Amino acid sequence: MKEGHDFSKDSRLIETHYAEHNEHYYNAVVPPVFMNSLNTFRTIDDYFDADTEDPDTYVYGRVQNPTSRILEDKIAALEHGKRAYVFASGMAAATTAVVTACKAGDHIVCVRNVYGPLNRFITGHCRDYYHMEVTFVKGDSIQEFEEAVTDRTALVILESPASVMMCLQDIREVARIAKKHHALTYIDNTYCTPIFQNPLDMGVDMVMHTMSKYIGGHSDIIGGVLVAKDDELIKKISLRRELYGGIMGPMEAWLALRGIRTIEVRLRQHEKTAMSVAGFLEKHPRVRRVNYPGLPSFPQYELMKRQQRGNCGLLSFEIDGSVDQAKKVSESLEVFHIGVSWGGFESLVEMPYARMTEEETSWLGGTANIIRIHCGLEGEDILISDLEKALSQI
Ligand SMILES: *Cc1c(COP(=O)(O)O)cnc(C)c1O
Repeated sequence: MKEGHDFSKDSRLIETHYAEHNEHYYNAVVPPVFMNSLNTFRTIDDYFDADTEDPDTYVYGRVQNPTSRILEDKIAALEHGKRAYVFASGMAAATTAVVTACKAGDHIVCVRNVYGPLNRFITGHCRDYYHMEVTFVKGDSIQEFEEAVTDRTALVILESPASVMMCLQDIREVARIAKKHHALTYIDNTYCTPIFQNPLDMGVDMVMHTMSKYIGGHSDIIGGVLVAKDDELIKKISLRRELYGGIMGPMEAWLALRGIRTIEVRLRQHEKTAMSVAGFLEKHPRVRRVNYPGLPSFPQYELMKRQQRGNCGLLSFEIDGSVDQAKKVSESLEVFHIGVSWGGFESLVEMPYARMTEEETSWLGGTANIIRIHCGLEGEDILISDLEKALSQI
């Protein structure tokens, strides 16, 4: 890193230069993958005195790794946090956040549209094994949070926008309510990435990203990260990552580092394409509703403008037709491939609610025929003509 320039001020410089100590590795422009499980010491006392929070000191790969540390420092800077910790998956980061914030018997408030596996962790594990209590909220009304959060609440779990219905929560207001009751707040910020939203600035305590999506950006890694700025909380997260042992591997960290160098240009392209695709779908006679927060017709557009700087390539829509017709549309697409996940270079389609009961889908505010698409980097004209052709099949 060159002396004298503050590389932490501009997101493009964080992505490209910040936290890289090229002088440690022959001034190679790209840092190496430190593929070592341990580091050695000259004396026994040096070993005992090692401070694993010092970016120049490494002891053991389950605790810290130089390649991961560069990634962690970049993400912490992009999220305006103090410290970030990388994990083997988004779920490893999410579950670590829950067990960091909550003790047995604690109360959690969680949005209904939270990522499905996290819902299952809370209801199927924390409730059964740790007797935690959970109150689910729709998330679109402040009054609902006012009523749900009490002095017994340890954690409020948000995901804004949530990744199927794209519904938002008023992050500043929820953080204010949680603080009043001394509860911690956690948000899954995967949809926006740090480029489009910085929840720590709005009072949130823990920000999570799965790096399997836009941070990796190339559909070739699984990874997660937690970011915080409070010193006590940072210590607790660090301890739990070390003891649960869910750190990301160095090769994945290196690939995430490569992904991050282009995250802003990729995101802007995904957004531009998704805006055109959403506009096309909104006007299509066989489409009943488009869920994309970037559309001025989106019910929470004003809130989106207050807390986000943009939207990514993920959107969903409801066709004017049955589940079978929605399957026909999805299967007729040629450029969009059927698959879970999103945030990579490629366009994807799935029907996340297709096998749910009406009771389940309406609890989530949706319908079984909802089609979710990820607009990749193939180009908007290609994607729109693919959708036009598929929709003409019904
Ligand atoms: C994929 C995803 C996760 C889980 O991340 P993994 O890396 O697969 O564990 C969490 N939240 C959202 C919104 C996701 O899309």
